[in-house]
Amino acid sequence: MNDFPDELHPDTLAIRAGTLRTEFGEHSDAMYLTSSFCVGSAEEAALKFTNQMPGYIYSRFSNPTVTAFEQRLAALEGAERAIATASGMSAILALGMAHLKAGDHVVASSGLFGATIQLFNAYFVKFGVQISYASPTDPAAWAAAIRPNTRLFFLETPSNPLTEVADIAALAEIAHAHGALLAVDNCFCTPILQQPLKLGADLVVHSATKYLDGQGRVLGGAVAGSTALVEPVYLFLRTAGPSLSPFNAWVLLKGMETLPLRMRAHCDNALKLAQWLQAQPQVARVYYPGLPSHPQYALAQRQQRGGGGIVSFEVHGGREAAWRVVDAVQLMSRTANLGDVRTTITHPASTTHGRITPEARAAAGITEGLIRLSVGLEHDEDLIADLRRGLA
Ligand SMILES: *Cc1c(COP(=O)(O)O)cnc(C)c1O
Repeated sequence: MNDFPDELHPDTLAIRAGTLRTEFGEHSDAMYLTSSFCVGSAEEAALKFTNQMPGYIYSRFSNPTVTAFEQRLAALEGAERAIATASGMSAILALGMAHLKAGDHVVASSGLFGATIQLFNAYFVKFGVQISYASPTDPAAWAAAIRPNTRLFFLETPSNPLTEVADIAALAEIAHAHGALLAVDNCFCTPILQQPLKLGADLVVHSATKYLDGQGRVLGGAVAGSTALVEPVYLFLRTAGPSLSPFNAWVLLKGMETLPLRMRAHCDNALKLAQWLQAQPQVARVYYPGLPSHPQYALAQRQQRGGGGIVSFEVHGGREAAWRVVDAVQLMSRTANLGDVRTTITHPASTTHGRITPEARAAAGITEGLIRLSVGLEHDEDLIADLRRGLA
């Protein structure tokens, strides 16, 4: 496999890093649909199984197509190593299994993906891990939440659905001062818009299902960071088995080739929609880190290379009005998925955040009038016409 120098531009790395070429000289990446690999001798098998010789053994451990995906993502994140997982959730599970033990304490952002909160509260806690939550926009709250046994800070930025921006460098400094690790779920920005490791984070997790694929076809995930921190994640993965399928890795490799172009186009379209929404009398508030009215606009300008593709807005008139907008669109897809070339529209209070109590929802700022868009790559005028229909 090619080992490209760091100086290459991310646009180039997204296409060329991790490219695997066999004796046949195939131009596109080869896909290795095989569960196991043969060896030439009993001695070779013994050496490979005891890690004294590199090479592929079994696709739960690793697979050449999966390795190509891992190398491409590691190059983009500026990580020594990335390890692929079957989904974003299994990446977070593997990170926890590798780096936490009973009695450890985690400080997590209050603005996390719903299944991540469920994984922490229903499962990590069951194994004796303590969890506290702190606002992503209030570093002092993270410092105050630290206990002598705090081992990990975990956050997403921008958050879903309110696009709150956390200061990665400031939180990394607080975590490190107490000997804790900082892990960032970089799903919304992708390494094209934000490289958490360069800002001081220790580990990055991904749901590759979203922008890395970009076309809603496969599930996948990854954990990236230093070799020392990723190796224990790999050891859990090869033992427990939530490994990425080579087919999905191949689809993700194809998706990543257009990631830089797509992310820039997502940002352009999202900004146009956010600006238009802000001028509509039916809209009470727009949440988008690329708007100067966003409370963390200056931080987002510093930390991100664009506002991203997620725009949320609140309409006057509560749930009834919000549902009318969701029901009136003809082009946008009514689905909770995000990061797709197709624009999606969701009412968080009754879907992604529908299972938490109304009090918890209110505390999290998820009002009944809130609508979340994952802005895709259709023409912006068609998207605006679709929303205008809904708002009318
Ligand atoms: C979707 C998502 C996940 C979970 O990823 P899956 O691939 O669905 O398991 C984790 N974090 C964020 C921010 C997500 O949007």
